[in-house]
Amino acid sequence: MFHSKDEFKASFSQRLEQTAGVSFANSTKQHQYQALGMMVREFVSTNWIVSNEEIRQSGQKEVYYLSIEFLLGRLLVSSLVNLGVKDMVESGLQELGIDLSELEEAEADAGLGNGGLGRLAACFLDSMASLKLSGHGHGIRYKHGLFEQKIIDGYQVELPEQWLRNGNVWEVRKPDLAIEVPFWGDVQWIEKNGKLTFVHEHAETVLAVPFDMPVLGYDTTRVNTLRLWGAEPAKHYPPHKDFMQYKRDTEQISEFLYPNDMSNDGKILRLKQQYFLVRSSLKSIINDYKENHSDLYDFHEHVAIHINDTHPAIAIPELMRIFIDEEGMKWDQAWTIVTNTISYTNHTILSEAMEKWSIDLFKPLFPRIYMIVEEINERFCKELWREYPGDWDRIEQMAIIAHGFVKMAHLSIVGSHSVNGVAKLHTEILKKREMKNFHEFYPERFSNKTNGITHRRWLLQANPELTSSISKAIGTNWIAEPQQLAELEKFANDSSFQLEIDEMKQKKKRELAKIIFDRDFLAVDEHSIFDVQIKRLHAYKRQLLNVLHIMHLYNRMKEDSSFRPHPRTFIFGAKAAPGYEYAKKVIKLIHSVANIVNYDPISKDTLRVVFLDNYRVSLAEKIIPATNVSEQISTASKEASGTGNMKFMMNGAVTLGTLDGANVEIGDLVGPENLFIFGLKAEEIMHFEKYGGYHSHDYYHNDRRIKQVVDQLTSGFFRDSYYDFETLSDSLLMENDQYFLLKDFSAYADAQDQVAAAYADRKRWLNMSIHNIAHSGFFSSDRTVSEYAKDIWNVHPLS
Ligand SMILES: *Cc1c(COP(=O)(O)O)cnc(C)c1O
Repeated sequence: MFHSKDEFKASFSQRLEQTAGVSFANSTKQHQYQALGMMVREFVSTNWIVSNEEIRQSGQKEVYYLSIEFLLGRLLVSSLVNLGVKDMVESGLQELGIDLSELEEAEADAGLGNGGLGRLAACFLDSMASLKLSGHGHGIRYKHGLFEQKIIDGYQVELPEQWLRNGNVWEVRKPDLAIEVPFWGDVQWIEKNGKLTFVHEHAETVLAVPFDMPVLGYDTTRVNTLRLWGAEPAKHYPPHKDFMQYKRDTEQISEFLYPNDMSNDGKILRLKQQYFLVRSSLKSIINDYKENHSDLYDFHEHVAIHINDTHPAIAIPELMRIFIDEEGMKWDQAWTIVTNTISYTNHTILSEAMEKWSIDLFKPLFPRIYMIVEEINERFCKELWREYPGDWDRIEQMAIIAHGFVKMAHLSIVGSHSVNGVAKLHTEILKKREMKNFHEFYPERFSNKTNGITHRRWLLQANPELTSSISKAIGTNWIAEPQQLAELEKFANDSSFQLEIDEMKQKKKRELAKIIFDRDFLAVDEHSIFDVQIKRLHAYKRQLLNVLHIMHLYNRMKEDSSFRPHPRTFIFGAKAAPGYEYAKKVIKLIHSVANIVNYDPISKDTLRVVFLDNYRVSLAEKIIPATNVSEQISTASKEASGTGNMKFMMNGAVTLGTLDGANVEIGDLVGPENLFIFGLKAEEIMHFEKYGGYHSHDYYHNDRRIKQVVDQLTSGFFRDSYYDFETLSDSLLMENDQYFLLKDFSAYADAQDQVAAAYADRKRWLNMSIHNIAHSGFFSSDRTVSEYAKDIWNVHPLS
């Protein structure tokens, strides 16, 4: 049905009438989207079956990527791109009077993630399939993804997200493969074949039902699987419990994604989600394995299990439980297999964000798992004692269980063969500071794997104009091997290529300007600099620094009528965790500043401030290609990698950033003349944190610009919000500015002036832009996943 345009048109019309039950003329965009989606799924289903069969027969090693989040976004167009039929479908639809981009809008984002961590998991799925690796995802089918953000009077309001409202064409529910997951209860030991075995009794059981989604690769018939688990009542529900209550408790497990970026909350439910994911995933992996293997003794030769951060770390004791209690293995043997199977990625350095669970919660929920964690801890501490006899301090610091808590990062390091950070700087900080003791004990376990993004979604799909300009210049080999984008380097000063890039950017800016106008009735100057900061709202990401600088620009314009900067549109997009007051006040402040700057005759033709609500993957795809300046201004040492920075660079934006996360590597690749770096370095920040010596008051008192903007937060400057911004002002002064905004303010303002000067020189700016595109191939997640495959998973592509 996708072999020729005419065939496609005929099948589509027929399918539309069959599935929607309405005539073509009466069909809605939603009907049309559903029909096309079903055609795609049907089309891939044969390859899906064949792929699974091939893997089985080849005995190829398989990778399972366990993640509590998969931030997939929309799947229709990425599927068409990966199948290589997008242009054909688009033109076929056009002949039927249908605009593909309108069908695209009918699809809800699968927003099963908070931000970078969940988006990374989605990019990895795309790369694993495109590299023809047998790599599958396991996650949770949240009924409601990350909340929908609305802005009312400048304040964030959260609404439940409803991506399943119109069904999900991409999934197949497989009730025959459902798995029971027990919680609570107690552990008994019984004699089985002359051996003592533990059994978990009196548990409350929940049914985990798999929903499988095909994962397509680019230019390959290989189809992998993303298996998402949904919670349903089990056949045997607890007799002592009211059924309605049981049903609610059960379904709650896969009801909502936790909207807390980094910190954990709603503790019991969150823990239940983790075990729900791990128990059902491992059981299904082992069931599949047993179909083709007679025993489990070389399990790790055939299966690699990767845990995306510590949320699925219970996989370690759970796999031990299966091997020992169910399969009758001895501890040492089971431990060898488990540690050789599991590998772990650390995503954070903020020590307050490292996951730990109170024993009081953990132990009653999973009594048998807790016993195993205790045993792992005891054996580990004994090992430490042999290495460091008498060094109680060190052993206490490294223990898995200490002071009433289970430390998930420690469990993950001890129970795996590989620990990786997500950017060079981040990995160095882990090795030298946060995980220094562990690195000394297990130096060979640690490595760096700098994050990446799939260039198929973030370039081919999001920016077809740039894609075709690149291919016109250097051919199409770069699509399979994105590092070949480096060929563009020789076009950096080529005036006709510069013109192409200029026109592409202008077109994307015009499209975004239209989106902004349609949403907010706000006209923005499409020739202004589009200066963008889109990411979760967090103090360490320093959106507040950006806003304070905008206030300063406005103050300068008010005071000095000769100061007329190059027109700029500052664009923000960010969700704040619902309980995070500081973050919510920053959102309010952005709106309050917009209300002044966008309407004051002094500034309105020069400065515009735009907040695009409900930031998500599909919106990012529209904003990023239209961006000139990519704001990556986190406090150095706090952003593990960042991946937004890579998406912007790939689309020709120039980075304005600190030496943090992957910004460091962007700078190394493009050279200092092709980005703007400012501010304190990670070493300096960590020095201040350890030894003190920073007093934000000094900067407030000694820099008139700073005093003015900080005072404006509380002086009544914002007529509509007298008391809103005390939290922000307090964080800067009373709490001594934990994220060093005031210390970096002056350097940031200077860097912004340099940005404006560089932009004014068209040839220079386009040259910078092209250099950025040319060096972005390194950040394709194909490179990242290849490194995982070779160094961690020991898997090879299926030819
Ligand atoms: C890429 C992406 C992120 C991560 O952005 P950072 O700037 O790296 O924090 C978050 N949310 C969405 C929707 C994304 O696409």
